Amino acid sequence: MLIRSLEIQGFKTFPDKTVLQFNRGITAVVGPNGSGKSNISDAVRWVLGEQSVKTLRCTKMEDVIFNGTPQRKAQGFAEVTLNIDNRDRQLPFDKDEVAVTRRYYRSGESEYLINKAAVRLRDVNELFMDTGLGRDGYSVIGQGRIDAIVSARSEDRREIFEEAAGISRYRYRKAESEHR
Ligand code: ATP
Ligand code: MG
Repeated sequence: MLIRSLEIQGFKTFPDKTVLQFNRGITAVVGPNGSGKSNISDAVRWVLGEQSVKTLRCTKMEDVIFNGTPQRKAQGFAEVTLNIDNRDRQLPFDKDEVAVTRRYYRSGESEYLINKAAVRLRDVNELFMDTGLGRDGYSVIGQGRIDAIVSARSEDRREIFEEAAGISRYRYRKAESEHR
């Protein structure tokens, strides 16, 4: 699995459609303080289904939408798409290319799409479960996260290892079947 590109539009500091291409190896984002570097990792978390406004460094979900400058008017919605090369079928989705999109309107309406087809948030969560890339994955390590892992309660730390070991899916399915 390889992240090919990230498309950001109307999200935080990105009023215009911005496409970031990723290649194999390391990609570094550099820029002055406040220029929007961390907003890129916020966009990744967000498209993967992050629901915590605090994690997204906002006070309410609407804050992810570009809120205007003296030169530019605010946008009506934010949209982020993550394009993934799935030729190795690491995602349980039978397509070489998988595009996950999240859209959020000022009205509070939200949309999730997988390859342009409308899905539910839980479909996005299930798609990434056990891949390490999902909302609860360990692929985005924010400031302070390492400290949090080290000082976490052992049950919470265990969840991180379960996700890494790829067994969260089975625990999730067991809980789902018991719920029915
Ligand atoms: P540092 O080097 O200090 O970590 P950074 O490049 O990571 O900086 P970010 O935290 O990504 O910077 O960006 C912060 C900027 O994003 C702030 O100037 C803030 O005003 C702007 N910003 C956040 N949300 C929005 C929004 N909804 N609309 C417009 N600008 C926004
Ligand atoms: Mg930053």
